[in-house]
This record gives sequence, structure tokens and C-alpha cells, in this order.
Amino acid sequence: MTRRPLIELTDRGMYCAAGDFYIDPWRPVHRAVLTHAHSDHARSGHGSSIVARDGERVFRTRLGNSAVLEPVAFGETVVMPGGVRVSLHPAGHILGSAQVRVEHRGEVWVASGDYKTVPDPTCTPFEPVRCHHFITEATFGLPVYRWPSQRAVFSDMNSWWRDNRDAGRTSLVLAYALGKAQRVLAGIDASIGPIVTHDSVERLVVDYRESGIAMPATHCVREDLGREGLDGALVVAPPSVLGSAWLGRFGQVSTAFVSGWMLVRGARKRQAVDRGFPISDHADWDELLGAISATDAETVWVTHGSSNVLLRWLTEQGKDARELTRPKRGQAATDTSTRNQLPV
Ligand SMILES: [Zn+2]
Ligand SMILES: [Zn+2]
Repeated sequence: MTRRPLIELTDRGMYCAAGDFYIDPWRPVHRAVLTHAHSDHARSGHGSSIVARDGERVFRTRLGNSAVLEPVAFGETVVMPGGVRVSLHPAGHILGSAQVRVEHRGEVWVASGDYKTVPDPTCTPFEPVRCHHFITEATFGLPVYRWPSQRAVFSDMNSWWRDNRDAGRTSLVLAYALGKAQRVLAGIDASIGPIVTHDSVERLVVDYRESGIAMPATHCVREDLGREGLDGALVVAPPSVLGSAWLGRFGQVSTAFVSGWMLVRGARKRQAVDRGFPISDHADWDELLGAISATDAETVWVTHGSSNVLLRWLTEQGKDARELTRPKRGQAATDTSTRNQLPV
């Protein structure tokens, strides 16, 4: 009989049968472990969810007051049914982002969630965790993705803001409301002018502040406010405001998108923005390889992004590398009967 893998992919997401819990499930389950509060990982409706304590406020904002959260400190062990030991370790992606370490009968698996290894003042740095099986994300798993130095990008962003201010233009930074917006605020030179936030960004800025992360002063723009105090401002808002009436109040605006995708030729044009600043909360190619090697894993499971090139590269380096695939629609109806078996 082949031994069932400790973590496998089912139609509800990653599942640990030995401990009867899911990691980042995309359908309601009785017990979940959530790697971070981005909506493609943290969904509501679970019986209870283990989360990193650092991210508790952010999870609460995203999942609502009815969600049952089990906050744990990084490194703290939770013993699941069947004696499976679970602990969370910093992933360096956004505030409260965690890798999930699962140990059973001497075998250790780590599910990375989203991660990056470069320093970020808004969250605990990525911690390499040794394991037998490492499930890695690969959002930017191609050798063309190599992030420029953050110092250089922030210096460009500061000059762009200064030039706009001097020319009487508002600087609009489009950034995901959770994580990227706060990273921009932590890195920008706040002495250049006032910083204005969209309320979806502001709510999370408050969560970050209350979680002990230093944020510059911000002024939240709600629908009923006028133009005063906006001269020379840097406005931080989610990409969805582009082309909306919300922007009308700011007069002449220069727009910029902050994302790893800004390294891709044509991406800035497709977003219809004036500038693109390549700052990512995901590991680039070198960071992926560095993180994978630091785990010393015998088997690397690749998921969440461009996996083929990374799989081939790892295989060529003599690693046992496999794709963690999501079951095809209709193939796996329940967790117990028609499970999508991963090769062991
Ligand atoms: Zn994420
Ligand atoms: Zn993700």
C-alpha cells in the first residue's frame, strides 16, 4: 500500500488527512490554517482558522467579526488530532504572513504560502525552515524576474512625487490595499508632501499601526471631502479607482502602478498608467531558488504560478520536483472518495 502524503491537494484546497485540517482552503471547512489574509488564501466560512498572531487585526478586517480565529505566535506548536504538530513561521510576504510547518511521525512538510526573502519593514522577515517536503509558490518562477534594488525604486518614486508636486500635479500610487500599500508608505519619503489614502487602504493602515508597524501620517479621503489639503499630495489607492469618479477631485494626476508585474514589457501600458514601479511581495527567481535550497527539502512541490520552468530547473539540479496540481473540475467530488492522488 502506498503511504498517503501528509499534505495533498483536494477540491477544497491543501489537506492534511492525518491531522484533519486544510491549509488556505477555497471552500468552507471545519478547521483551516491560513497563511495570510489576501483573499485568494483567506476565505470566510470556516469552523475555525489558525492564523499568525501578528496578522490578527488584518484577518479580522478581511474576514469579519463572525470569523473564529485561533491566533498563534510564530514558532508555537499546535497539536492537531492524530498527534500532528503544526506551527507557523514568518513568510515575509505581508503582515502576519506565515509558512505552515506540519510534522507527523518524524516527517516534516512546509507549505510556504506567498513569500519573499528581501527585507520589508512592515512584516517579520522570512525564516527558512528545514523540511523533507517543501510546497513553494512560484508566482514569479521565471529567470526573467529579478527585482531591482528597493532603494533604487523608492528613490525613483520619491523623485517622481517631487517632480509632480513641483508641477502642481497629484501623484496617484495604485497598490493593492493590503500589504503593498503599507510597504509603499513605509518606504516613501513622507517629508515630500501630504499622504492621502483611499478608505480601503486606510482601514488596513490603521490595522498595521495598531499591530505596531510604523506608518507615516495619512489623511483618508472619503467621498464627501473636497480638494483642500490635497496640493502636492501622494494618493495611495487600490487599482480599482482608475477611471472612476473618485479620482475627479484630484485635478491633474500622474498615475503609477506598484507591482512586480511592472517588470513585464507592456504591462504598464496595459494598465494605462504613466509610471510603473517594480516592487513585489513575492520572491523573484533568485529568492525562490535561495529559499528552496535553504529548506534542504528532498521533495519540492511547486504551485501558485509559473511552475514548469522552475520544475525543470530543479529537476536538472537533481531535486525531486513535482507540481502540486489542483484537481480538474468534476474529478474530485469529495475529500475522502475521489481524491486527486498526488504521486508519493
Ligand atoms: Zn498574497
Ligand atoms: Zn497568493
